[in-house]
Amino acid sequence: MTVNVAVPLMLQQTYCYAVPEGKENQAVTGIRVLVPFGKRVMTGYILGKTEEQPNELKEIREFLDLEPLFTETDLEFYQWIANYYLYPLSMVIKTALPSGLTITGRQKKIISEDGSVVTEEFFNKSTKSKTEPFYRITSTPPPPSLKGKAKNILDFIKENEESDRTTIYTLFGQSLIQLKRLLDLELITVENREIYRDPFKDKPYQPDSPKKLNQEQQAAYNKIITATDSGEFSPFLLHGVTGSGKTEIYLQVIAYAIERHKTALVLVPEIALTPQLVGRFRSRFSCGIAVLHSGLSDGERYDEWRRIRRKEAKIVIGARSAIFAPVDSLGVIVIDEEHESSYKQTDGLRYNARDMALVLGKQRKATVILGSATPLVTTVYAARNEKLTELNLTKRVEDRPMPLTRLLDQRGKKLEILTPELLKALEQNLEAKKQSILFLNRRGFATWLTCSDCGHVLQCPNCSVTLTFHQQQNRHICHYCEYSIPAPSVCPECSGTAITLLGMGTERVEAKIKELFPEAGVSRMDRDTTIEKDSHFRIIKELEERKTDILIGTQMIAKGHDFPGVTLVGVISADTTLNLPDFRSSERAFQLVSQVLGRAGRGEEPGEVFVQTFNPEHFALIAASEHDYEKFYLQELEERRDAGYPPFSNLAAILFSSTSAKAAEEGAETAGKLLRKLKTDLKLKVTILGSAKAPLGKIRGRFRQQILLKSTQRKPLHQLLLNFKNNMKLPANVRVSIDIDPVDML
Ligand code: ADP
Ligand code: ZN
Repeated sequence: MTVNVAVPLMLQQTYCYAVPEGKENQAVTGIRVLVPFGKRVMTGYILGKTEEQPNELKEIREFLDLEPLFTETDLEFYQWIANYYLYPLSMVIKTALPSGLTITGRQKKIISEDGSVVTEEFFNKSTKSKTEPFYRITSTPPPPSLKGKAKNILDFIKENEESDRTTIYTLFGQSLIQLKRLLDLELITVENREIYRDPFKDKPYQPDSPKKLNQEQQAAYNKIITATDSGEFSPFLLHGVTGSGKTEIYLQVIAYAIERHKTALVLVPEIALTPQLVGRFRSRFSCGIAVLHSGLSDGERYDEWRRIRRKEAKIVIGARSAIFAPVDSLGVIVIDEEHESSYKQTDGLRYNARDMALVLGKQRKATVILGSATPLVTTVYAARNEKLTELNLTKRVEDRPMPLTRLLDQRGKKLEILTPELLKALEQNLEAKKQSILFLNRRGFATWLTCSDCGHVLQCPNCSVTLTFHQQQNRHICHYCEYSIPAPSVCPECSGTAITLLGMGTERVEAKIKELFPEAGVSRMDRDTTIEKDSHFRIIKELEERKTDILIGTQMIAKGHDFPGVTLVGVISADTTLNLPDFRSSERAFQLVSQVLGRAGRGEEPGEVFVQTFNPEHFALIAASEHDYEKFYLQELEERRDAGYPPFSNLAAILFSSTSAKAAEEGAETAGKLLRKLKTDLKLKVTILGSAKAPLGKIRGRFRQQILLKSTQRKPLHQLLLNFKNNMKLPANVRVSIDIDPVDML
């Protein structure tokens, strides 16, 4: 018997191997095997039986799994992805399976009694999971001598039967001596246990029941349910303004599917930023929920993965990689905030989980709901061309009004963090004991340092960007490669003292607000303040508990959160996104401003929003401030049509990078010539732009060039790229990657 095996290397082909006599039963799709590969032994995945009989057939050395890691149905999905993204099937499989699974080498092999190799042991689970001492009460009554802290700790453990060390330390401070004493007296026992660091666990969830849907919600729900009943692939765009009750619809549709023994996959842009959404699922459902988040160790991720495979978890919530979760009987896929660019992976297999959700839905005949208040122009266009069904929620629940929004023109005025209008609104809101949010899509204190004597600007030596000053660390940091230097007191170039910090980030806004309102509770949420686990929760909780009056933050605060107490939102600058050299910059700005202003007035009180900008006449900002998606859509569509961008074309980018600027340039140029020749020879209707230096010409010491391909049809684009891949030979110091449907054009 011969099987096809995919070996995870950047090679297109798969390989044939002979199955040892008597092992035929084990040689099924989805089993990992050890195979001789050249001089090495590698792990490979069995794809299936083959009739091929090559001359020199090597034998499989070892079977690594008792149960398949993927099914033939999964394989169909992987194969589709491999073809679409022009990526080796083996590497697609590797990306799809939970990390930590692929172990090459033999040292971890454990043979069980019946002679087979066991997966569990093969996968070294203990490597990354953490343990913690747990103290348990014993039955001996306490001797009378015990008092003070030791007694308090004992009482606490007694009350709870057991406690982990972190909790004890949190309550009683460092208590090593006391715990040792209690152990010596045999009043407690200790045991090291593996702990499950799930930031979503142990949070109290109030059970909650389905809400009575309003008319618009009900209409949308009915349409989705009817489609679900049909058992056919049914894609929907659920387009509803912020706070219109989209999540409530997801919950009820999923409940409907679960009742019918189906499962659900819920994708969210970034799981750490959506504790509230996870909480709502936990409150609503008693069936198993698997939450795949980045805080999981490899072992925990694998555990969750097996829970899903064993159908113990019927709902899977996760970020983009959850699209590969091994769900069976898939009924519903939800892509929340479908417009988010984080659904796109930006290295390795550059897949887009939003797009793949539609592919998966089609393969599994599932209902797919793309939800957003600000859907992609391409999505709405597809809906209006009958590729998906558009469902609209035009009103907020309970008829809460959309916030009154004003654009504040900063042109020709003295540059200040807060315009007088926004400042006044903040003061009044504080006085009224209401909460405010200030948004700026840039972290740090100042964007760059410049010397007014010699004109020197502090740049990252590895990347073509300026270094951002972070006051708390007192360092200038590169946001691309983390390179940093201590803040200089004189100009590093001319030793002059006329150095100035220009541009602003959230840290500077926070400093200013604290200076203006020393009495107010001020908090900041950005990447710098959320490094620690649980810090998101803390910041959100403090806002919910009204300890925070003013929250300052980056786009982290723009997403999904529901803060009923917030009545004022100020956008410090709407221009950071608008000015990016990317054809999607208007769309991004519209989304960001719409999402941020959606945070205002979600409670009983109406909200108010101020947007500071140098571009008050920009259609995207005007449309966002008027909550007019249609206005934005129609104009954006025209601009895309004129420039030939999606939805009027399909895009692919080819990226070249090298530590040598010359090699990158020459490589890209050679590639450009080849592409043009192939295009002519094959008579393909593809527009080839470049090569040109990427907007970010250098990142992490690598110089970057790119070629952009456009075509109204997908086929010629693919044909050109396939031929290019097969014929392109570049020097070893130039890296090439192909990005199908690129999202980040920088
Ligand atoms: P979206 O996902 O569109 O932002 P949500 O589903 O989060 O909207 O709804 C906003 C708020 O309104 C939530 O607090 C939610 O519990 C509540 N809500 C949603 N639907 C209803 C309803 N039919 N009746 C009452 N409250 C609702
Ligand atoms: Zn850098």
